[in-house]
Amino acid sequence: MIDLNNISKVSEPLPWQKTEWADLTAALAAGHLPHALLFVGGQYTGKVQLALSIARLMLCSEPRGGRNCGRCHACELSGSGGHGDFRWLQPQEKSRVIKIDQVRDLVQFTQKTVAFGTRKVIVFAPADSMNVNAFNALLKPLEEPAANTYLILVCNRLHGVPPTIRSRCQIHRVAMPGQEDSLIWLDGITGSREESQKLLALAADRPLLAKQLYDSADTESIAARSLAIEALLQGQLSVGQAGAVWGDAELSVILEHCSGELQRLLRNLSAQRLRARGARAAFSLLDEINRLQRAVSAGTNPGRQLLIESLLSKIRRELGAASLGDNIQTELGD
Ligand SMILES: [Zn+2]
Repeated sequence: MIDLNNISKVSEPLPWQKTEWADLTAALAAGHLPHALLFVGGQYTGKVQLALSIARLMLCSEPRGGRNCGRCHACELSGSGGHGDFRWLQPQEKSRVIKIDQVRDLVQFTQKTVAFGTRKVIVFAPADSMNVNAFNALLKPLEEPAANTYLILVCNRLHGVPPTIRSRCQIHRVAMPGQEDSLIWLDGITGSREESQKLLALAADRPLLAKQLYDSADTESIAARSLAIEALLQGQLSVGQAGAVWGDAELSVILEHCSGELQRLLRNLSAQRLRARGARAAFSLLDEINRLQRAVSAGTNPGRQLLIESLLSKIRRELGAASLGDNIQTELGD
């Protein structure tokens, strides 16, 4: 979620989004940009930043160098949440979903004429946090687009958006950057390659998460949680002890971190090892974590302590040094 009242003057795409950006801006300049776009990509790939950048470019009255100018009245308003032709739908405050009422208001908004500039832009982020009713309300503006009105949907999982909606959007896949691209970008923030490498490792190669860690200065607790998992796998910590280290964080943060650790572990395995029993167990745990993440982001509130201990127990049982047969613990540190 972004703070719509506090956006930098110029919104730029991330360095690894050059191709998507070139495609979008060329279509915009030629007047061919479709009225509905769907940006899909994993968490922390920067697709929200891409959506914000193109939306503000579309609203700016004097674009410069292929970006919004950051100086005109339209830019001032789009950066402070006050632009009359711009709507950004995201879950409100404590809610984790975009509600049907928010979408209904928006449908009315699409029917009004452009008030201020030349285009109306509406962003849904994340679109896959909408329920069936909210998607149904969105069908009409997608099927019968109002003039100069653009809808941009942002989602983590393509199958989180119904086929009836997907088929009416132009889909853009936003990929995770390579490690070197991530490090170059992070260096510009941290000013130190060593610091960038440490953060990127903690964030399991996801640069935006690494930046978030840098901003929140929460690297110590993340590092402690990573060490707790390693110690659990080595049999040096019990589930209860590891759970205590993991205890303070929000459930969504814990699930994200668990998922990152498992993905890192799987990435470090050789092809042969990927067929081993331990790797299959890691994939199935990853599926389970994904399901839990969806449930949590849909507003379910599972018993926190039990869930953490159950996850840690499974990780230890399936992947720990003491598990029988093929286990993949030996390659954890690669
Ligand atoms: Zn401007």
